[in-house]
Amino acid sequence: MGDIPHHGSDLDTGIRGVVLVLGSLSVALTLVRLQWSPSSFRSFRDLGVLLLVVRWWPEVAGGRPEGRVRQSSHSNGDEPLPAPQTLANSSSRGLTAAKAPFIAHSLPLEPETEFHRSPSLHLIFQSLHPSNDYTGGDTSSSTIVDGLLDFLNESWTQFHATAEAKRQLIAAGFQLLNESCDWNLQPGGRYFFTRNMSCLIAFAVGEKYSIGNGIHVVAAHTDSPCLKLKPKTASSKSDYLMVNVQTYGAGLWHTWFDRDLSVAGRVILKSGDGSFIHKLVKVKRPILRIPTLAIHLDRSVNTDGFKPNLETHLVPLLARKLKEVSAGKSIEPDSSKIAHHPLLLEVLSKELDCKTSEIIGIELNVCDTQPSCLGGGKDEFIFSGRLDNLASSYCAFRSLVDSSKSPSDLADETAIRMVALFDNEEVGSNSVQGAGAPTMFQAMRRIVSCLAPDLIAEGAFERTIRSSFLVSADMAHGVHPNFLDKHEEHHRPELQKGLVIKHNANQRYATNAVTAFLFKEVADIHNIPVQEFVVRNDMGCGSTIGPILASGIGIRTVDCGIPQLSMHSVREICGKEDVDIAYKHFTAFFQSFSCIDKNLNIDF
Ligand SMILES: [Zn+2]
Repeated sequence: MGDIPHHGSDLDTGIRGVVLVLGSLSVALTLVRLQWSPSSFRSFRDLGVLLLVVRWWPEVAGGRPEGRVRQSSHSNGDEPLPAPQTLANSSSRGLTAAKAPFIAHSLPLEPETEFHRSPSLHLIFQSLHPSNDYTGGDTSSSTIVDGLLDFLNESWTQFHATAEAKRQLIAAGFQLLNESCDWNLQPGGRYFFTRNMSCLIAFAVGEKYSIGNGIHVVAAHTDSPCLKLKPKTASSKSDYLMVNVQTYGAGLWHTWFDRDLSVAGRVILKSGDGSFIHKLVKVKRPILRIPTLAIHLDRSVNTDGFKPNLETHLVPLLARKLKEVSAGKSIEPDSSKIAHHPLLLEVLSKELDCKTSEIIGIELNVCDTQPSCLGGGKDEFIFSGRLDNLASSYCAFRSLVDSSKSPSDLADETAIRMVALFDNEEVGSNSVQGAGAPTMFQAMRRIVSCLAPDLIAEGAFERTIRSSFLVSADMAHGVHPNFLDKHEEHHRPELQKGLVIKHNANQRYATNAVTAFLFKEVADIHNIPVQEFVVRNDMGCGSTIGPILASGIGIRTVDCGIPQLSMHSVREICGKEDVDIAYKHFTAFFQSFSCIDKNLNIDF
């Protein structure tokens, strides 16, 4: 803002020039009215040129005013430029953004050169290229956001999310373990395992870890509300081939109508030698659709609301029945006698490059085919399905990978850093691959016994649990501008303002004052913004894996999440900046929690 006086001196010069030109034209026109002739026109034109030369002479001769020279030095990037809106609103400039486009047509082509010469022209350029003014994030933030978009587009299902996390962990040098085999762990080592290809636990052991020290965990979930294919998928109505689906989780099901849908998930194949193979499959082209009913057949839908019956109205169309042209007779098998339409199996076998007869089991989700992307006027949002909770999952495992990249990252670490991603959170977590299973507890116990000397000291594992800390990361409700009264007045999380710490006195969230303080202290030390949420007393509150793991393992826990809108819609929204903040907060947690935690004792 200190630049404004310099803009003012430039403005004065500009006004002088404009006044001179207008003045010369005015004189010229007056004289023309008195006596017009080609020779007098030339003399008036020469006078105008002379006046223009006088106006621009200081610059042509290199004699710039002091203020302009200093403004030029700012263009080297030493300081951020004022936003165009700020400049346009400055009355001292006398140039509004509304006028700028009309002037811009006569601009010379090279904008950078023009900026050096005249800040007012830079303003015009900025007003025409608003994307140049986005200052949110830095290189690392665009990398993490780009990485998340790729992860989302890859991860149509919980299986694909786990497989992609596995691929990235292996690429980063993490060693794959098998829960069914012996483990041999070492300080400084980095390991992970998957369960059911929908749950994953990864960890990095500090070089200075000793038994009884804590395990610092960020946990999230891989599943999202969706439609899943029933065991018998084939049905038929009015010559349409339909695919039977069941609802999974608390989806906003009306958002699934009129979307370009497909299927993805896993299949079991029987190979020629009699063995069974587990494979993931994703059909990228839109093969399914759930059409809405036309307004003409449902006149009250906009006043009474859209209330589809989830059994009868939510069945996707796959195709029209095939007919033999001559006889008009169906060549499709009777849907009531088959499990799957041959057409669906053909599509899957084409993707898998196998015979339809080899497909002996399927577990498929219905998926939206629209790719995840940036959105908003300044590309400040992410538009995508499954943000809840793949955004947290991605930030969690990337922060573990990036905070444990080299041996020096773990050289002074006294704890174990862990990420746990669970399936089935959307339906209560009670499954072998959900947070309700003892997967994390068992992993912790095995790690301690692996790293312990021959004889484990009394209470070694229990001491480890008591020193451990869990960040339960699940998406949060950002305040919706059209429904402000749905939020408690003093706790309205906003997009682009950081992770939301979730509180609930009735223990729907596991946060307490101590765990909130410790997690905020991590943020505070690294200058990371953070927000807090509590639900209104007259509304129910959601829950997540935090209370399940806190009570099941006995681990100190904070519940937090990236704020978003449209939660559980087929197409959700969150702020790009918040993804970067979450990644930085988790990374800071891994890097500094050992130091912070030892400064606070509660029970003695
Ligand atoms: Zn969630």
